[in-house]
Amino acid sequence: MVDSKHYIEKQFFALGTINYIKIYDCYDEAILQLAVDRVNEIEQHMSVFLQGSDISNINSNAGNGLVSIHEDTMQLLKLGTSFSVLSDGAFDMTVRPLVELWGIGKKKNYIPTQEEIHAALQLVCYKDLFLDETNIKAGMRNPGQSVDLGGIAKGYAADEVKRILKENHVNNALINLGGNVLTMGKRPDETPWQIGIQNPLAPTGNNFGNLSLSEKTIVTSGSNERFFIKDGIRYHHIIDAKTGSPAQSSLLSVTVVCDCSVDADALTTALFVLGLEAGVNLLHRYNADAIFITNNLGLYLSEGLKDCFTIANVQKHSNGGNYE
Ligand code: AMP
Ligand code: MG
Repeated sequence: MVDSKHYIEKQFFALGTINYIKIYDCYDEAILQLAVDRVNEIEQHMSVFLQGSDISNINSNAGNGLVSIHEDTMQLLKLGTSFSVLSDGAFDMTVRPLVELWGIGKKKNYIPTQEEIHAALQLVCYKDLFLDETNIKAGMRNPGQSVDLGGIAKGYAADEVKRILKENHVNNALINLGGNVLTMGKRPDETPWQIGIQNPLAPTGNNFGNLSLSEKTIVTSGSNERFFIKDGIRYHHIIDAKTGSPAQSSLLSVTVVCDCSVDADALTTALFVLGLEAGVNLLHRYNADAIFITNNLGLYLSEGLKDCFTIANVQKHSNGGNYE
């Protein structure tokens, strides 16, 4: 609906999260609906939970050859695989058996045994995902293996929403798919968008800082999204495919800022697993910036964000600082 703030907005549930799209320079509700329909279509193709989705079909057929998938699923699996290669497996869509074993947010504070972790780890390897681009088919090498696009699908969907809005001549909009933010143009008063960066140690809505920018995507992976703490260890939903456990990389969250949301989504997950030093090295291979928040609320900000990030009133830790 068009309100007194002169924007139209659609809030909707998809991809397991709450999403919204706000358009500031046109009042055509049909454009919003086109965008929502596309996000729903992406979910239908790529959800690991929906029976009959491409991903469910790949998983239930693991070890039995390839299954036909949609073009967009192929595109995303291909892209995800290239991030796996570049991050040396830090980003790995085949972590699903470990995600299920840990059940973060589903099982109650469950810590699997070393035997269980070892068994699930045998099923995880991005090199076991076969893609036949000519016939648009995909499959996993061994029975029990499975893929999960949870670390990349929201970014892909956000880029698709932007494409649809652009095609319909929308220039000023704010897209937020479960925290995967994409800004288009500027605010109605011509000032840049203001995007809050969550303080990972505080309740939702408490910002660690603020980004002021236009025409960028801002994506965060954090150990504060789904987690529990036991014996001082934070168990969360981002799995290190080398150890089989939630990544313990001395980071609380990573935010990536760049032009393409799907790249940002894959990168945040990979950088979170890699940790600060290796993460910064990988970041340099992309045209992207990042904010790393370390375990003790230290802040590392890449060069390109120095003029647009303002720190909020949180305690800055002694080891904080810029890495460049
Ligand atoms: P994100 O919040 O974008 O970092 O994505 C986390 C989600 O991606 C998890 O809920 C899992 O579904 C999946 N995931 C977990 N660990 C990894 C990983 N190392 N590589 C790729 N996807 C992962
Ligand atoms: Mg991600």
